[in-house]
This record gives sequence, C-alpha cells and structure tokens, in this order.
Amino acid sequence: MVNENRMHPLGPGDRGPAVADIQAVLRGLGLLGEPADGPADASANGSANGSANGSANGSADGEGYDRATELAVRHFQQIRGLSVDGLVGEETYRALTEARWSLGDRLLRFDPDRPMRGDDVTVLQERLLELGYDAGPADGIFGPGTETGLRAFQRDYGLTADGTCGPATLRALRQLGRKVVGGRPQLLRQSASMVESGPHLIGRRIVVDPGHGGGDPGWTAGETTEADLVFDLASRIEGRLAAAGATVYLTRGRGQDPSPAERTAFANDARADLFISLHVDAHSSSHARGVSSFYYGTGSGASSTVGEQFANLVRREVVVRTGLIDLGSHPKTWDLLRMTRMPAVRLDCGYLSHPVDRLLLLDAKLRGTIAHAVLAAVQRLFLPAEADPPTGTFVLPARH
Ligand SMILES: [Zn+2]
Repeated sequence: MVNENRMHPLGPGDRGPAVADIQAVLRGLGLLGEPADGPADASANGSANGSANGSANGSADGEGYDRATELAVRHFQQIRGLSVDGLVGEETYRALTEARWSLGDRLLRFDPDRPMRGDDVTVLQERLLELGYDAGPADGIFGPGTETGLRAFQRDYGLTADGTCGPATLRALRQLGRKVVGGRPQLLRQSASMVESGPHLIGRRIVVDPGHGGGDPGWTAGETTEADLVFDLASRIEGRLAAAGATVYLTRGRGQDPSPAERTAFANDARADLFISLHVDAHSSSHARGVSSFYYGTGSGASSTVGEQFANLVRREVVVRTGLIDLGSHPKTWDLLRMTRMPAVRLDCGYLSHPVDRLLLLDAKLRGTIAHAVLAAVQRLFLPAEADPPTGTFVLPARH
C-alpha cells in the first residue's frame, strides 16, 4: 500500500496514519495491546453518537509511535530475523505489510508482473513442501515455482490444476490433516472457517470493481491511496465470495485503471449477476464521515429494485458491523450504474479525510470486517426471503 520508493523510517515521536497502520498490524499479530482509552485528547471527532467505539477511541492521530510501539516493532524484527532497531524502515515496513495476510484472506495465484507476497503465501509454500511438492523456497513470494508445485498438488488430488489457491484447494490441504507445526494454529482455524462458510453462492457470478488504479490514485491520505485501499478490500471480498461458492471477477489488476465503459463492458461480458463497485470518500470538511451506497435510479420511481435492495443490504451490514456512520442509499444515473446490465451498486466506504474513518480504514482487520459484511449482504440478497435473518446477525464463521 505504500509506494516502493525510499521511505523515511518511522520511529519514536512520529504520528499519523502510517503509524496507526503499523500499530494495527502489530495488534493483529498479538504483539501490541489495544490502545489505552485516550484520556487527554478529547478532540473534535464525534464521539457524541458513540458509534465509533473500540478501535477508534481517543485522539485523531492514534497514540503515536510510543514506547509500546517501539518494543512491539523490536519484537517483530527479532521474530522475523530483521535488524533490530525499533524503527520502521523499508524492510520492516515490507515485512509488516506481508504479515497482514492470513491463508484464506484472498485467492493466491501467480502474477508475473507483480508477484503476490505475504504470510499466506509462506504458509501455502510450507504446506506444499511438507506434502512433498517442490514449490521452491518458502519465501512468501508466489513465484513460478510455487505455481508449479501447486499445480502438481492439484492434479494429484483431482482438483482443477489452475495454479490458483482458492477454496477447493484450501479444503483439500485442510483435509490432508496437517499437523500443526510452528505455532500457527490460528492460520489453520481461519482457513477452516473459510471453507465452512459453505456453498450458498454456487453458480452466482459477481464482479467486484475496485475504483481508480494505475495512474489514478483517487483520494489520498499521506501514503495511503484510495486505489490501494479498495484493491485490498476487493481482494478480501473476492476471497470470501469465492469461498462461499461464487465465481468472482475483479475489473482491474493492481496497476490498471480501466475507464467506466471498460469496467461495465467487462461485467456485461462476464454475464455477472451482481456488480459491486468500491470507493472511499474524502471531503474538505473534516466532519464528513460515514458509508453511502448508490444504485441506478432517477429518484422518480424508475429505479432498479434489486439494485436498491442490495444497496440497502450492503450498507446496513457494513454500518452494523463496523460502527461507521450511516449516510443512506441514493439513486444515481452514473454510467457505471447505468451501463451495467445487472444489479449494480457502488459502495463508498468511509472518508479518508475523517480521522476516525481513516483509522478504521487503515486497519486491515476492519477491512476484513467490511469484506465479511459484503459477503453477508450478498448471501442475504440471494437467499430465499423466509430464511433472511436480521441485519448483523447472519451467522458466518467468526474470523480473527
Ligand atoms: Zn473513488
């Protein structure tokens, strides 16, 4: 999510979204406790409605790079075999970025232009090696060797040998009764729960459209771009929908920026049942915050009913599960919604310009929660009405 150019190392005294991001990863790894209830800094962000509790309490910039953060970084560096200096330079930042992925969070496949990196790749490689497949070194980079090893495994176990690690492959890996090695039982539980989310969506074709990309970063906040955030979110949604049996397509790769016409043509060609476009917002007023969704309509009754229904479902699921403010669903005649021949919804998921929303969006765990909410909404859309549970209660395997 950060560009690969030289970065100024972060250390004691630094504040801001990049520091909050690092802290979120360290918390996810259990190396850093939850932030203390910020006593001082009762700044302007709206605790009046009490909705953004927990992860976003206290000051606008998080607690800053304090002593606890430095200790957690040192601990992380020690575990990872990095030089231990308590600062987050390029190397440590890259390792932290990779550590946010757990097996099952996303589909894994070989991308020659931009190889996928992460702890989920390491776990897959280790598993293949344990089973006797030559997947190259377990280096956390999904390279051609990983693909060859994965294809060989898939062939032997009667799976489609497509070199993509998705739900069927995860299920097979799990059924082989992995012995838990090296203290990673949590990763195993996560991939197991992913498989258990079941085949509710078999036969459904869903296109997920991360906004912007390539030369168009969208809104930015420090080193964070909207394009990267929504791509990360789209990857998480893709993984969860695929695990529930749906066929999922993304409209763009990480570095691409197709036009609205190209995005809608892609969805039409894919004969999708549902189109979900993802954005985050920003505003010159630092008070603007919350979640909106949009569906095709003119506001005069000529609206797409399924689109409107899904716009409401997905927005409500996200609001209930994240505590982001509810800004409602709105009819729009944007090309993206108009040119798609299936129910199409755009979700604007929080404001990068708002301190609380930004903290939430920079938290990988919270993005996992949003992905979970989207899955719940899709399942509710396609479930028979009598089986439809109230918002926020649909029972999905707990993650994290
Ligand atoms: Zn946007």
